[in-house]
Amino acid sequence: MTNAEVTASLAGLSKAIRRYAKLVVRKGAAIQPGQELVIQTPVERADFARVLADEAYAAGAGHVTVLWSDEEITRMEYANMAVDYFSTVPAWKREQMNSLATGGAAFLFVDGADPQALRGIDPKKVETRSRAMREQCDVYRKGLDFGKNVWCIAGAPVTAWARTVFPDLSQDEAMLRLWEAILMAARADGPDPQSEWERHNATFEKNKRLLNQYAFDRLVYKSANGTDFELGLNQGHVWAGGAARTVDGTVFFPNMPTEEVFTSPDCLRANGVVHSVMPLVHGGQIVRDFWFRFEDGRVVDYGAKEGRDVLKSILEVDDNACMLGECALISKDTPIRQSGLLFYDTLYDENASCHLALGMGFPECLEGGLDMSRDELVAHGVNQSLTHVDFMIGADDLCITGITKSGEEVEVFVDGRWAWSVA
Ligand code: ZN
Repeated sequence: MTNAEVTASLAGLSKAIRRYAKLVVRKGAAIQPGQELVIQTPVERADFARVLADEAYAAGAGHVTVLWSDEEITRMEYANMAVDYFSTVPAWKREQMNSLATGGAAFLFVDGADPQALRGIDPKKVETRSRAMREQCDVYRKGLDFGKNVWCIAGAPVTAWARTVFPDLSQDEAMLRLWEAILMAARADGPDPQSEWERHNATFEKNKRLLNQYAFDRLVYKSANGTDFELGLNQGHVWAGGAARTVDGTVFFPNMPTEEVFTSPDCLRANGVVHSVMPLVHGGQIVRDFWFRFEDGRVVDYGAKEGRDVLKSILEVDDNACMLGECALISKDTPIRQSGLLFYDTLYDENASCHLALGMGFPECLEGGLDMSRDELVAHGVNQSLTHVDFMIGADDLCITGITKSGEEVEVFVDGRWAWSVA
């Protein structure tokens, strides 16, 4: 493409980008009349933040607060400050986040980052800050985790990310292609994305209803790449996915895009071998062609063509990092998978393929789990860990069989797709 063609094409996307912003504000963050909307965004996407704010006010938002960030400044902060600095969240920041949450704000996170922004930075600093935020901005954290506040993560491109996904294109053309990919992935490239998402959610509801009715005892995974794996499910497990609901009944979409129906498996009942089908991008490093062997829930052996040491560091985060916290089912007939792109971003890549996650499980994926302590969750099979790392195992020929408590076998996935029709 010539520069003029790229510029014209980018300008041509502006209507679709506005429809996407409207979708994110109205369906994702489900903004209500008079409500505060908090937009957290990279400063590089100020143009998109303005469209979001405009759409939020048009939808009746009471006020819009924008929290800007800049990766280069953040990197300088990590490079220059000692670990100790990150263990305390400044009082004004605590007040800001906690009071916004108490006031009932909806939180919208614009996801756009250089996948290698923090390469070479001591991971302890990053981990210390995220733990401090979790513990000290507790009202905010609980508001998001326990269904009090609406939240939504949606993507928008930044230059360094676009260049990573499309290394052979010029900077402008890479940005154009990443915008197109983001709109396509979010099912926002057509004339009426909001109706599209209502249809999309009906599919989620059907898949969740069937899975929850079967209440399988275990799933058996098989594919020609060597995956031969059995995964126990907890008594009282709940499949989640698609729209979420606050305690007061507001329906929202925490992730845009989202394609996964997921639950937390029994962390003590994983046995056999699983092979990856996509590279794993973790902390600015890549692992390729890898596998894990599980026995009684724990990884007992593993290998990789490239990046085995990254797997080692993940498995050694804590005692439970070698056990599973999530299993997610995703058809291969989704826009993200069909694009064939590696996004180097979990929001997108985890929605391309059936996956498992090592580490932390979800309390909402167990009946009564939100009222349980950490120890109670573990006792019911929901893993608790400081880490949560997704890896993709959805081969094109993946078959998954569900086995009920009475021993009945039900096809769940055949050749990488739902076994039942989901129309
Ligand atoms: Zn997932």
